Amino acid sequence: MGIAMISPAVNDTETDGEAAARPKALPVLQLVDVRKVFGDFAAVDGINVDIREGEFVTIVGPSGSGKTTLLRMLAGMEAPTSGYITLRGTLINDVPADKRPTCLVFQSLALFPHKTVGENIEFPLKVREVPAAERKRRALEFMRMVRLPDHYYAKNVMRCSGGEKQRVALARAFAYDPDVLFFDEPLSALDYKLKKVLEKELKDLHRESGKTFVYITHSLEEAMVMSDRVGVMSRGRLVQIGTPEEIYTKPATRFVAEFFGEVNSFPVRRTADGGWTQADGGPIVVAPAGDDIGEAATVIVRPETMRFVTGPSSADNLISGRIYNEYSLGSRMLYQVHAGERIYLVEVARAAAGGLVAGDTVTIGWDARDAILVGD
Ligand code: ATP
Repeated sequence: MGIAMISPAVNDTETDGEAAARPKALPVLQLVDVRKVFGDFAAVDGINVDIREGEFVTIVGPSGSGKTTLLRMLAGMEAPTSGYITLRGTLINDVPADKRPTCLVFQSLALFPHKTVGENIEFPLKVREVPAAERKRRALEFMRMVRLPDHYYAKNVMRCSGGEKQRVALARAFAYDPDVLFFDEPLSALDYKLKKVLEKELKDLHRESGKTFVYITHSLEEAMVMSDRVGVMSRGRLVQIGTPEEIYTKPATRFVAEFFGEVNSFPVRRTADGGWTQADGGPIVVAPAGDDIGEAATVIVRPETMRFVTGPSSADNLISGRIYNEYSLGSRMLYQVHAGERIYLVEVARAAAGGLVAGDTVTIGWDARDAILVGD
């Protein structure tokens, strides 16, 4: 499996010095109320976001949430039904893909099969009529950038492994010298280990190249590893965009919190004294709520912030229960604990679990700072 790309317009006019002199804080891409409607269905339903120069922004969301449709509009393969997309201040709603200084890298194969690695990478330079010796010099530079050995220059691309083809396609994307690189799940077809290696390499490449990357994926894990900012989409809308840390520690909604995997959640309501009580009346201590939280909300507690409480140690919230089941996650253990009508999930380091097994009576606890209030 390899990756393909939509080629950008060739940017001949700007020198490296001019590119370096551009102010870094300006948005490269601006989306204002962008919508895409198919029939009476809004696949993308009012997206507003600024993407800054040199940022690595990843859009995640479940299948059907509108990620591909959004990226196709950014890359020029689809025009928005309404709203505005600007690139460095120029409206590009109707500019086709091959007339934009952007490059889309996706997972289906579009390398020239009977050509060498070098010929594939040099293609955009050849179109620009760069002389042969200079082409080779730059192709080798791009190959080193994506960690392909020099002797691969003369290798037939079909004799490369899946991961090597990905690198060839990336090197070719850089040879187009695009302003922005768009990635449509380029790693989704690779095995887990190779994916992990390439995630790190992509992050390094981003830093070394200084280019703006916009990436879409189903995998929040992939997004968290690589990105400066992560946007979470649901039903055509961008529910939240922020740093990986913000998305993890301050999810805007229950949907965002649950996108990270299973969580403990408690419906709560405000009490007269400004505190919170569980909907079924039980006490709960939470971190102070933001202004956007109304009278009713949900408290999210991640399994990894819960712990087993023994001896004199304590926690802001304590509950007694019985272990129903345990699951090994390698270095960590996940426990299902039944307490009253509820099932709690508690994830702890194996060493901290102390050999607990199903049937054991335990006290679980968590602190107010780990009890995240989200609006309903
Ligand atoms: P996945 O992760 O599965 O690729 P996605 O988040 O990329 O999903 P999109 O491919 O953008 O989602 O699709 C969003 C919604 O728009 C889906 O319900 C899809 O069926 C619909 N859709 C996309 N393209 C078209 C089209 N050309 N005509 C009609 N509906 C479309």
